[in-house]
Amino acid sequence: MALIVQKYGGTSVGSLERIQHIVSKIQETKQKGHDLVVVVSAMHGETDRLIQLAQKLSPQPDAREYDALVSTGEQVSTALLAISLIAKNCPARSYTGQQIGIMTDGYYSDARILDVKTDLMKQELAQGRVVVVAGFQGTSTQGDVTTLGRGGSDTTAVALAAALKADECQIYTDVDGVYTTDPRLILEARLLPEIAFEEMLEMASLGAKVLQVRSVELASHHHIPLRVLSSFHPGPGTLVTSEDKMIQKRTVSGIAFSREEAVIALAGVPHFAGVEGYILGKISDAHIEVDMITQNTVGKNTIDLIFSVPRKSYMAAWNIVTQLAQELKAASVSNNHKVVKLSIVGIGMRTQTGVASTMFQALGKVGIPIQMITTSEIKISVVIDEEHLESGVRAIHQAFELDKLPHKMQISMAETGS
Ligand code: ADP
Ligand code: ASP
Ligand code: MG
Repeated sequence: MALIVQKYGGTSVGSLERIQHIVSKIQETKQKGHDLVVVVSAMHGETDRLIQLAQKLSPQPDAREYDALVSTGEQVSTALLAISLIAKNCPARSYTGQQIGIMTDGYYSDARILDVKTDLMKQELAQGRVVVVAGFQGTSTQGDVTTLGRGGSDTTAVALAAALKADECQIYTDVDGVYTTDPRLILEARLLPEIAFEEMLEMASLGAKVLQVRSVELASHHHIPLRVLSSFHPGPGTLVTSEDKMIQKRTVSGIAFSREEAVIALAGVPHFAGVEGYILGKISDAHIEVDMITQNTVGKNTIDLIFSVPRKSYMAAWNIVTQLAQELKAASVSNNHKVVKLSIVGIGMRTQTGVASTMFQALGKVGIPIQMITTSEIKISVVIDEEHLESGVRAIHQAFELDKLPHKMQISMAETGS
C-alpha cells in the first residue's frame, strides 16, 4: 500500500465528463489499496476568465481581492470532484488550501509555501477518504487567501507529497508526459521516459509550462519521485528523477522556448568604467529582470549594450532606456519585442563538445539569424525573431536527432480540447 498524491490540471477537469473520467481513475488507484490525496486545478479557461473579470473592473486590481477571486476556480473543481466521487460510493471530502493548512508568505499572486499542515489529511486518510485539495492557493500568516502563480497547482501537489512523505507525486495533464519539445508546436516531438530534475528545472524556467518551476525545485529538494502522465491515455508518462538514477544521459534532452521576451539595444554609449552597471542598475531599480546581456566595445570610446527583458516589462524598460540614452548621449536606441528565446537543455552537454556549433549551424542552414546567445553548464539559449520559432525548433530538433527517439506522440490535439 502506498500513499500517492495525484494532481489533475485544467483540461483534465475541464467538463463534467472529464471529472467523471477522473473518478474512475481514482477508484482504480483506491482499489489497489493505495491512500490518495488529489489536487485539482480550476476547470480549463476558468482562471483566465476570472482574471479578465477583475481587469474589466480595474486595470490594476487590489492584490488581496485579486487572489480572493482567482482562487475560487479551484474550489469549484474540488467540490465537483468530491460530489462525483461520493455519488460513485467513493468516500471523499474537498478542502480549500486554507482549510488544509497550506501556509504561505504574503506575496499575493506569487506566494511561496512555507509550511503544510498534515493532521487533517492524515485523519481523513485514516477514515478511508480521498482527500481532494484545491491547488494553486494557500493562506498567509495574516489569514488571507494567497495564490501561488500560474500553474501553481503543480507546486501544491508536490508540497503535499513532501509534507506527507508520499511514495509518488503524479501530475496528470493533457499530454502523455514530458516531450523533447512542446508537442503542440512540433508534431515530431518524442515522449521522454525520464528526465533529470536539473533538466526539467531548466526546461520549465525556459518556457516549457508542463510543470511549474517551483514544483520541480521542491520535488528535487525533497527527493519526491515526480511523474507526469496523461489523464486521457494509460501509459507510464515521464519520471522526473535525480541524475544518478537515470538510465540514459542524453546530450540534449529537450528544447524549450519562450515568447515572453523583448530585446532593447543601446548603441554608441560613451564608455566609462561602470557604465554597464549604471544602465542595468536603473532597470533593476524598476524591478525589471534583465535576462541576457551582450556588450561590444566599439572602437576605444563607445560600447553597444543589448539586453533582454520580459515582454510584459518592455514598455517600462523602454521608457527608462530612452531617458538614459539622452542622459548618456548614446548614438541610438532600438528595440525588438517580437523575439523568442529558444533553448536546448541536456545534462550530457557538460561533457560533450560541439553542441553549440551543431545548434547554431542548424539555425544557419535554415537561414535564421541569431540575435543573442547565452550558455550555462546544461543549456544554450538563443534569441531569434518570433516568426522563425517553429522552423528554428524543428531544425534544432532534427539536428540533435530528437525525432529519432522511440516514443511517438499518441495523442490527437483535437482530443485535448486545449
Ligand atoms: P495543466 O492544465 O494540466 O496544468 P498545462 O497547460 O499547464 O497543463 O501544461 C501542459 C502543456 O504544456 C501541454 O499541453 C503542452 O502544450 C505544454 N508543453 C510545453 N512544453 C512541453 C514539453 N516539453 N512536454 C510536454 N508538454 C509541454
Ligand atoms: N488554475 C491556475 C492556473 O490556471 C493554477 C493551475 O492550473 O495550476 O494557472
Ligand atoms: Mg499547468
